Amino acid sequence: MNMNRYAVFGNPIAHSQSPLIHQLFAEQTHISLTYEAILVPLTLNELSKTLDQFQKENGKGANITLPFKQEAYFLVNTLSDRAICAKAINTIRFNLNGSRYGDNTDGIGLVRDLTLHQKQNLHNKTILILGAGGAVSGILAALIAEKPAKILIANRTATKAKILANRFIDLMPIEYCALENLKKPSFDLIINAMSVGLSGTMPVLPNGLIHAKTFCYDLVYDLSSLTPFLVWAKNQGAHSYCDGLGMLVEQAAEAFYLWHHIRPNTTKILKIIKT
Ligand code: NAP
Repeated sequence: MNMNRYAVFGNPIAHSQSPLIHQLFAEQTHISLTYEAILVPLTLNELSKTLDQFQKENGKGANITLPFKQEAYFLVNTLSDRAICAKAINTIRFNLNGSRYGDNTDGIGLVRDLTLHQKQNLHNKTILILGAGGAVSGILAALIAEKPAKILIANRTATKAKILANRFIDLMPIEYCALENLKKPSFDLIINAMSVGLSGTMPVLPNGLIHAKTFCYDLVYDLSSLTPFLVWAKNQGAHSYCDGLGMLVEQAAEAFYLWHHIRPNTTKILKIIKT
């Protein structure tokens, strides 16, 4: 019998931890599956063709990563509310009747990591988000649902921050500014969503953004060392910080739940991946 196939689609994709995470989930929950990392060429319509082929060959579910989350949004038949909010998807379920359901689990993944693993309560907190790309679009609704006091988006290209803030205006008034105009006061939570992470060059940020209890969260993760944003945070005096590995595992767990209706124990999986 052919095993049910799952895969993550992106470019680049070789570095992806998703195959390992989903294999660990599958072992933990005693589900038989295969999970691959599939490189999608960056040429026009390649994502569509690659997904069609995968679905024909017993594909049951897909994760979508950079740079295809927005394109994938238009390649499904129905969408979750949070996917509609994000205008991008990171998860597809291929239904038995051949239709495709798209979801975005990034926001819930981040909030679960912050609240369950990092023990952060976001209610009434002030949040600074650095970056205004696809990831921010995916996490804003879930952050707003935690009822923070304030969210400020600072981005290199200020107009992108403005467009995002305006898109979510019905949920909450969001402040925005150009990264270069960012200044005090300090924030309770600072989230880095700039894709500068692993290249090692953080843009210059002003002093005074961090107070004694500020929690710094980097969406970027690095299994071997502190990310440049977390080095910056530490140098600025932050006592608590973490990278995005927990978010990666939590967004994967939500996708796994969508496909298999079982929620894996993410605390155990995180321990295994970190050792
Ligand atoms: P994206 O859509 O390409 O957006 C990139 C963002 O980074 C934009 O705001 C961009 O600013 C900014 N940026 C890039 N280079 C910069 C520089 N040199 N100086 C200042 N800002 C710069 O990417 P994304 O999908 O939002 O992803 C962002 C990061 O989050 C990626 O590293 C991704 O791997 C990570 N991520 C992690 C998880 C997880 O589960 N842990 C999930 C999703 C994403 P401009 O608008 O000015 O170009």
